[in-house]
Amino acid sequence: MLATKVSRDVPAGRESLKLALYDDLMVIPYPKQRIALLETKTPGRLLIHEIYRSLQGESTYAGLPCVFVRTTVCGQRCVWCDTPHAFVEGEEIAADELLSHVLAYNCPLVELTGGEPLLQTEVHPLMTALADAGKTVLLETGGAEDIAQVDRRVHIIMDLKCPDSGECERNRFENLEHLKSKDEIKFVIASRRDFDWTVETIRKHKLDQRHSVLLSAVHDSVALVELADWILASRLDVRMQLQMHKFIWGAKSRGV
Ligand code: SF4
Repeated sequence: MLATKVSRDVPAGRESLKLALYDDLMVIPYPKQRIALLETKTPGRLLIHEIYRSLQGESTYAGLPCVFVRTTVCGQRCVWCDTPHAFVEGEEIAADELLSHVLAYNCPLVELTGGEPLLQTEVHPLMTALADAGKTVLLETGGAEDIAQVDRRVHIIMDLKCPDSGECERNRFENLEHLKSKDEIKFVIASRRDFDWTVETIRKHKLDQRHSVLLSAVHDSVALVELADWILASRLDVRMQLQMHKFIWGAKSRGV
């Protein structure tokens, strides 16, 4: 499911048009080494970093007990990523074994996260099986992978990467067409520049009229009170969120 670059000729002197097209059409392939681990993975099995039960911390489901399935490997490299260990550490597990393992927690809420779950096609039957079993299934995805094939019962929480993440050019804006009204869009803000880009993007695509929009601050980069003031001044109908698990267990904790 590698992203492919799409180009379109832009008439001379129409650079503004090129800029307007940029966020709609440009998808850039990942450097090969970032996803190399998946080339040796056994088909039908999933490469999993960790499975654990904790409190959901970053969505409208925040605060609820949730079983997390964190997949290994991501094609992006957000400069503020708090799960870089998931880029390379993991073990293969058969899909049916993984399903049994998750169901054994007997928890109504299950989240697939990463890494980037959608880099492994095996997550699709897993999400469907979990929904069939009556679970509320959340999918956290970084916004660079195609979400069109995701089971419609799955609640998607999709990032749109801001400029200071270093991965803004990989945003797959055509995904917006596939989001359901209950799905959520998340922006992680590292600077005033990120916030301005976020406001422009929300207004351009009317995101706050179509979805729950979540804004969070990069820890140690933007003060919470600053982000709160910016949101209130913008008058956008968005939700500020606090990455609850970091307040409870600390910013560097893993598996929570
Ligand atoms: S998409 Fe998520 S897992 Fe991948 S680098 Fe960015 S924050 Fe980390």
